[in-house]
Amino acid sequence: MVSLNSDRTVAKVGAGNNWYDVYKVLDPLGISVVGGREAGVGVGGLLLGGGISYFSGRYGWGCDNVLNYEVVLANGKIVNASPYRNAALYWALRGGSGTNFGIVSRFDLGAFEQGLLWGGNRFYLWDNKDVLVDTFAKFIVDAPMDEFAHLYISFGYNIQLGGFAGIAGPAYGRAISNATIFEDLNKIPVLFDTTHIASMGVLAVELNQTDFLRKVESFPQPSHNCAKIDTSHESQLGDVFSGYGQKSLTRLKVVQKKYDPTGVFKRLQPGYFKL
Ligand SMILES: Cc1cc2nc3c(=O)[nH]c(=O)nc-3n(C[C@H](O)[C@H](O)[C@H](O)COP(=O)(O)OP(=O)(O)OC[C@H]3O[C@@H](n4cnc5c(N)ncnc54)[C@H](O)[C@@H]3O)c2cc1C
Repeated sequence: MVSLNSDRTVAKVGAGNNWYDVYKVLDPLGISVVGGREAGVGVGGLLLGGGISYFSGRYGWGCDNVLNYEVVLANGKIVNASPYRNAALYWALRGGSGTNFGIVSRFDLGAFEQGLLWGGNRFYLWDNKDVLVDTFAKFIVDAPMDEFAHLYISFGYNIQLGGFAGIAGPAYGRAISNATIFEDLNKIPVLFDTTHIASMGVLAVELNQTDFLRKVESFPQPSHNCAKIDTSHESQLGDVFSGYGQKSLTRLKVVQKKYDPTGVFKRLQPGYFKL
């Protein structure tokens, strides 16, 4: 289920969708949400782990834009969690690694008007890795000046090239190619370049067909008021919760005890990080 309310500000998204399912419905309406960049990634895991989006420079992480969660609790009750109902659970779900509190069955997401945008991938010879890193470092400093800009770089083995390559994923949240902020990136000679102006759904499908080994991300971030680490990208880091700070960690455990007192999800739901 993906539906938009009548004033086009809230998209209700069933947790079983992937991001292509979402963009397929919203793109033709000229609307988008702060969601995943790749078509096949699930709505549930991405939003419960943080959620980095092409639109994060403007609106923050995916979890910052969840207005309400419909959640199935360990006792079988279905509740809503928002700033107005079950507010502590709402706080915890926004970045507290979702597999600790319940099964989310629907996400109500803040929606916004969005036309076509620019994005894609550029592949570089391995010899250009240093200039790519330097350009990325400079972009990080400049990015806060342009909230529409987004860039990640990645290094990996590319089967088609038969060797290691550098990859950049620039994106711009408007239908503008090669915006000024990408001036330095545009100077690096590319092997091939898939950037173009397209809908979110088209870009997400194209990105799904590209393989990466290691990604480094940057986008300007609005301030956040919930304790979180993007756990969706931290799977190899072990104890991510120590980074939340003791106060937030204690608060998360209190919420867990209240909503799942016997630890059903801790024991029976695999994946992500357990409190
Ligand atoms: C190719 C690729 C591209 C990616 N791109 C991005 C990106 O653009 N931005 C970003 O932030 N991250 C991105 N990620 C990371 C991604 O967000 C995480 O891998 C995330 O865990 C994927 O969620 P899923 O639902 O597909 O996976 P799953 O493995 O199904 O879920 C991950 C965990 O969340 C739990 N879970 C899922 N749904 C629910 C639910 N409804 N209620 C409770 N628990 C639930 C599952 O039990 C599991 O433990 C990407 C990952 C890949 C592999």
